[in-house]
Amino acid sequence: MSERFFVHVPITGERATLTGEEARHLSGVMRARIGDEVTLFDGLGSEWAAAVASIQKHSVELSISARREVSRELAFDLTLAVALPKGERQKWLVEKATELGATRLIPLITARGVAQPVEGALERLRRAVIEASKQCGRNRLLEIAPPRIATELFGDLGRAPHSSELRLLADPHGLPLLKLPQAEGSILVAVGPEGGFAPEELAAATVADWKLVTLGPRILRVETAAIALAAWAAYRS
Ligand code: SAH
Repeated sequence: MSERFFVHVPITGERATLTGEEARHLSGVMRARIGDEVTLFDGLGSEWAAAVASIQKHSVELSISARREVSRELAFDLTLAVALPKGERQKWLVEKATELGATRLIPLITARGVAQPVEGALERLRRAVIEASKQCGRNRLLEIAPPRIATELFGDLGRAPHSSELRLLADPHGLPLLKLPQAEGSILVAVGPEGGFAPEELAAATVADWKLVTLGPRILRVETAAIALAAWAAYRS
């Protein structure tokens, strides 16, 4: 795989332009020259073989030679709804979730949550998704979805459940994963904050028929629990 670069607008036609950090990376860090071959992706599913056509101060023009339909996605939808940890641990979570193929991350607003999912922080996470996708070869971006209040998300889906969706809530006192019925189709996973889910949040999930699952007798950090469940989901079939 040649070096991958992300184009922020949908790629159409025979030309593409890299700007901002991507242009700096290619011309500054990689010291690209005219004719150098790279792979481009725009996050919508395809990738393109391209060559450097011209280099300006703040942008790089590329000429496209071929479109390739390469899917490195999971065969089902995997959503992680997580009460985000702080700072670098948040970024780590997003990087690993992207590598494991998660479809989207919903920042959960919980009674005991600490990190406020403000727009600036979510923008930094979107940048982390792009970095991870460049590295791992994903052509579709993990979506950083708008934050949801936990009780509302749990209740919502209770009223209109997706027929084949498996909804799992990570809870140290839940059932072992092995006890779950075999299921195909999409998976929605919820992980609480360091202080744990509040009783009313657990009640809302239980009423809406979420399955409470344990990851063993040790208390895991939020991001460890989220990635452990994502890995289980990704490799279970
Ligand atoms: N003090 C809390 C633990 C919070 S850990 C308590 O005792 O409940 C943060 C989140 O990670 C939890 O809300 C849960 O969703 C998940 N988690 C941590 N360890 C887990 C385990 N062993 N099994 C299942 N979920 C776990």
